[in-house]
Amino acid sequence: MKAVAVHPRQKDSVHLADLTEPSAESIPGGKGVLVKILRCGLDGTDKELVAGEYGAAPEGFDFLVIGHENFGVVEAVGPNVTRFAPGDYVVCRVRRAGSSLYDLLDMPDMTTDDEYFEHGISRVHGFLTERYVEDERYLIEIPPGLNKVAVLLEPVSVIEKGITQAYEVQRRLKVWEPKRAAVLGSGTIGLLAAMGLRNRGLDVAVFGLGEAPYLNSELVETIGATYVSTKQTTLEQAAQRLGRADLVFECTGFSPLVFDAPRQLLGKNGVMVLSSVTGGERTAQVPSDAFNLDMVLGNKVLVGTVNANRQHFEEGVRDMAVAEARWPSWLGRLITHRIHGLDNFEQAFDALGAKGAIKVVVEISSQ
Ligand code: BGC
Ligand code: ZN
Repeated sequence: MKAVAVHPRQKDSVHLADLTEPSAESIPGGKGVLVKILRCGLDGTDKELVAGEYGAAPEGFDFLVIGHENFGVVEAVGPNVTRFAPGDYVVCRVRRAGSSLYDLLDMPDMTTDDEYFEHGISRVHGFLTERYVEDERYLIEIPPGLNKVAVLLEPVSVIEKGITQAYEVQRRLKVWEPKRAAVLGSGTIGLLAAMGLRNRGLDVAVFGLGEAPYLNSELVETIGATYVSTKQTTLEQAAQRLGRADLVFECTGFSPLVFDAPRQLLGKNGVMVLSSVTGGERTAQVPSDAFNLDMVLGNKVLVGTVNANRQHFEEGVRDMAVAEARWPSWLGRLITHRIHGLDNFEQAFDALGAKGAIKVVVEISSQ
């Protein structure tokens, strides 16, 4: 079957590859679920994989099938599968368990292993192909009412983990009643983080480079959040106008903000979540005394977050259902580009770099 692959760490090596058809029997214990892939979303990680900056091939292969934001329908199940039946809609978690304690506890997102396994990113083939087979433990059931937007569940799971981590960290305060959140970045992750935080009742400001009005700023306002253009307003001015944030969610990919935002935007006892995967080599000068003093005197926390486990995917399903009920069609508007067919993968990567693109989705099969 057809697949879109790269030779990891080799620039511009994206190509069509051939994979053997998977079968449910290949998973031990009769737990295999064979899934037909309906659509697959692309993001910055796929861009980095194509640029040769990131990724690793599975053992025995010199290529890696890319694509990790997935949505599909079950075609067949092994004899011991209890949770799924043919016809069910599913999303597959990205990370497979390794060997650390956290992996054994079904928290591979917290693995301490140096080598980790991620579909479409690291050592396991991804979903820009026609079918896959996986152990049922890695699959998330999708209510049919979400089938149009469930391809967004993987990025939603990432923001769910980040927000959950922030709340977990803040249990240190015994009582934490966050009122204001700031989201740095207005791409897919920023918009979804704003959704998750609005669903939790916070006042949310989303910071982006673009000047309003444009699609991203409109999407921010539709869910009752405030859009701030960093072209027109500094973080300090925004903090003065809107108040300091109890929670800052960073997802711009611009790492110097990690050292500016705590001092300029985050309030006392606040928590800032770092979610940008910055594969580059950027450096920045930091006013280190001032940064340190502010962190110490303000009892502030910075917490890094990557990937997501089952709990976050399931929370994501609930948050998406609430979003669909509160702001019908809002999630669907995030999908700005749909490319039909794996053969047109080059168009998909062009769209990923296009002005105005939020989420690019490859339509692989219609059912
Ligand atoms: C994916 C995560 C993954 C991370 C690091 C992101 O694009 O959405 O699932 O853990 O990249 O590889
Ligand atoms: Zn991703």
